Amino acid sequence: LRYLVLLDIDGTILTTNGAAAAAFRSALEQVFGTSGPTDGYSFAGKTDPQIARDLLRIAGLPDSEIDHGLPEVWPRYVEELAPRLTRQAVRLLPGARELIEHAHAEPNWVLGLLTGNVREGARLKLEAAGIDFALFRIGAFGSDHAERGELPALAARAAEEQLSRRFHGKSIVVIGDTPHDISCGEKLGVRTIAVASGSYSVDDLEACGPDHVFATLEDTVAVRKAVEGLNG
Ligand SMILES: [Mg+2]
Repeated sequence: LRYLVLLDIDGTILTTNGAAAAAFRSALEQVFGTSGPTDGYSFAGKTDPQIARDLLRIAGLPDSEIDHGLPEVWPRYVEELAPRLTRQAVRLLPGARELIEHAHAEPNWVLGLLTGNVREGARLKLEAAGIDFALFRIGAFGSDHAERGELPALAARAAEEQLSRRFHGKSIVVIGDTPHDISCGEKLGVRTIAVASGSYSVDDLEACGPDHVFATLEDTVAVRKAVEGLNG
C-alpha cells in the first residue's frame, strides 16, 4: 500500500446541480428561520459546518445561537437531501467512475474520501450517482472537522489505525476541484491533483500551485501516473 488517494466529492466526482445547496438552505431555514444570503456565496471547497456558520453569521446570528442550533441542522439536511438527489439532478463527472474503480482495484492504492460533506450527505450523494460508498476504505468528512485543512491528517490517522500503514508526504494524494483542496494538505506536504470540473478553471487552479492540473479526470492513464508522481 503505497498511496493513500483521497477524493473530493462535489465538482470532482459528481455534481448535484444545486439540489444539495437547496437541501442545505431548507435545513438552515427550518432550524434558524434564515439561510443567509442567497447570492454571492460559494459553497465550493468549504465544509458543511463552515458553510452553515458563514451563512448564518452573514445573516447576523451570534455564534452562541449558531452553536446551539447546528446539531439539529444535519439530520434535517439529510432528510431534505435524499428526495432531491434525483436521476436528473445528480451527474457523475467525466472519468470519475473509472478512476474510482481503478483506485479500488489497484493493490498499491488505498482509496478514501476527503470532503467537506457531512458523512451521511457524502454517502447519499455517492449512492445517488451509483457509486458504492463502501469502495472508500478511508474517509475524512466535514462532520469530522469544520476546517478542511485538518482533514488530511485525520485521513492519514484513520489509515494508520485501520491498515497499520503510515502514509506521509507525497504518498498522500489529494484530488479536488478548488483552491481549498490544493491548500488543505500543505502542512503535510501531500501531493495535490486539481481538476477543473467544478467551478474553477484550469488557470485558476494552476495559479494555486498544485502538483498536477487536469481539465477533467477522463485521461485515466495520465491521472494514474500523476497519483504516483510519474509525469512530473
Ligand atoms: Mg469540491
